[in-house]
Amino acid sequence: MTFSFDNTYARQPDRFYARVAPTKVKEPRLVKINRALAELLSLDARALASPEGAQLLSGNTLPPGADPIALAYAGHQFGGFSRQLGDGRAILLGEIVGTDGKRRDIQLKGSGRTPFSRGGDGRAALGPVLREYLVSEAMAALGIPTTRALAVVTTGEPVLRDEGPLPGAVLTRVAEGHLRVGTFEYFAARDDSEALSTLATYALARHYPEVAGTGNDALALLEGVIAAQARLVALWLGVGFVHGVMNTDNTSISGETIDYGPCAFLDEYDPKKKFSSIDRGGRYAFANQPGIAQWNLTRLAEALLPLLHDDEEEATRLATKRLEGFPALFEAAHGRVMRAKLGLTHEEDDDKALAEDLLERLASNGVDYTLFFRALCAAGASTDADAQVAASFANAGAFHEWAERWRARLAREELEPQARAAAMRRANPAFIPRNHRVEEMIHAAVQKSDFAPFDRLLAVLVRPYDDQPEHAELARPPLPEERVRATFCGT
Ligand code: AMP
Ligand code: MG
Repeated sequence: MTFSFDNTYARQPDRFYARVAPTKVKEPRLVKINRALAELLSLDARALASPEGAQLLSGNTLPPGADPIALAYAGHQFGGFSRQLGDGRAILLGEIVGTDGKRRDIQLKGSGRTPFSRGGDGRAALGPVLREYLVSEAMAALGIPTTRALAVVTTGEPVLRDEGPLPGAVLTRVAEGHLRVGTFEYFAARDDSEALSTLATYALARHYPEVAGTGNDALALLEGVIAAQARLVALWLGVGFVHGVMNTDNTSISGETIDYGPCAFLDEYDPKKKFSSIDRGGRYAFANQPGIAQWNLTRLAEALLPLLHDDEEEATRLATKRLEGFPALFEAAHGRVMRAKLGLTHEEDDDKALAEDLLERLASNGVDYTLFFRALCAAGASTDADAQVAASFANAGAFHEWAERWRARLAREELEPQARAAAMRRANPAFIPRNHRVEEMIHAAVQKSDFAPFDRLLAVLVRPYDDQPEHAELARPPLPEERVRATFCGT
């Protein structure tokens, strides 16, 4: 089996990581292999699905050219700083340049203890691994930058969690990069400006090559990450995604969604919604996410400060100016997202107010976010669909009033009604990973070793913009007794 590894991070200074091999597991068994992603990485999916493949994907054997390392990073978690976090249960095997020319990390998650494990066992339970596989692949299909999932293997060993012993698993995670805001904070906390500078140059060349070497690398990096995060969070809001644990160690430099611990999707639209059981104050609630992203980017700016300018005041001024640009970047990206959802192809001043008015009405009428916008696509073609859309509002008049404004705005659009409806269906998914379906899928896999719900849900979610009438029940919101009230990291 050939892996064309080219491991640039393992060639960076020693203090960027710890060299550590995965810990062997008892009985690796393949649960899932992502054939399309394997192909993108020029990997042989058939070989990976064989017993030897399962040995590789569990970390029991190392593919030729792998240079296994655990990355050092720090991070602000729920506002408090930890000087030392790092890959406590993940090991980077190496990097592969895909058939699309993009370099990606191949990482095993749940592959055993590392020097960064602190009290942890270095392992992952099957449930959270399946959640990450399913949700990250759903996000990718929705067109949202994210880490990907290449494979899941079970280990044949139990892991001990609060709920008791659970089946262990290893996820093969693929990312354009695993650098985080916390990676920069790690070296800033140690006053290691040489490492910071090397890291900034590396990150810029890898993730923002178009601006590398054009001037101030650290400033260009800050600008690139600010823009990428503004766009990312706008895309999250467009599909009702609540990340749940937006700590700086989970804020990626590449602008990918990373760490699917307690994430969840909105059913009914509620800007204050939080799911994570550990997020007691609702710090990471749905509508707080743009503000939190800006807070996290401020931590990145602080870490980069010594590189921005020799004069501290000037460095602060440069950073502040970029950070102050975040809200406008976010608003512009969110405006694009909402206009696409509403079937608007050009921009007008009142579009933001039109979208905000709608969101308020969705919130006060307890309307399902995803179902509403999918149903609205038909209303984009004809008023005949209005009655059905309005039926999901506690007060149907709340929709009709808004729809009058919307139609007045649509009258200034060029698209033919049918073309508009089709464009709206490409912006408003029919299927998202509904929390109750995700929980049901995990329950079947963990309690009954039944992976059929996982396979079915995944097959539907990788085509989120297609009506799949035979799977209509996977699109519907939970019944009262099916509602998931809280999610758990389950680490
Ligand atoms: P997270 O909350 O998943 O972002 O993880 C925060 C930190 O805890 C990271 O440094 C992880 O590597 C570490 N961690 C989480 N779970 C485990 C585990 N089971 N064993 C060792 N380290 C862990
Ligand atoms: Mg994390």
